[in-house]
Amino acid sequence: MPEVILYAEGEDAMMALGARLATLTEGHGILYLHGDLGAGKTTLSRGLLRGLGHAGAVKSPTFTLVEPYEIGDKRAFHFDLYRLADPEELEFLGIRDYFEGDALCLIEWPQRGAGILPKADLDINITPQAGGRSLRFSPHTKRGEAWCAALAM
Ligand code: ADP
Ligand code: MG
Repeated sequence: MPEVILYAEGEDAMMALGARLATLTEGHGILYLHGDLGAGKTTLSRGLLRGLGHAGAVKSPTFTLVEPYEIGDKRAFHFDLYRLADPEELEFLGIRDYFEGDALCLIEWPQRGAGILPKADLDINITPQAGGRSLRFSPHTKRGEAWCAALAM
């Protein structure tokens, strides 16, 4: 499956890339966000949620693990699993409900939920490069492939 690599220099470019992803996903699918602390996972998520039409703040769900959003008739869930001690804890969060109904699920630190989380449509790996960030998009479903094809244009 073809990967796509893009470069975003600065927070505004990251937000704009998030907005592009909002247009492509139309509020559906599972995106895993990989990268060290400070890579830009939450910034990209913020751009995506704003792009879907969310007008308010987007805070990092570091302590709550998940933040729900209702945007018009769309639902989105933003996870930050950094503090998850054991993937089994996701069962107590009611994880299954989040993945029903084809909502948009943005998941920071998905490796902490390995074995319990459903598979991703798209992996996004973010790494610092020069003054900005390199983003590698790896699709795992037909839907993810379609997004990558559009991102490559
Ligand atoms: P994470 O959620 O991965 O820990 P954040 O989204 O909180 O990271 O971002 C950390 C910092 O990186 C913020 O100060 C943000 O402005 C900056 N940042 C995000 N994206 C970029 C980018 N493409 N280029 C430069 N700085 C960025
Ligand atoms: Mg974050």
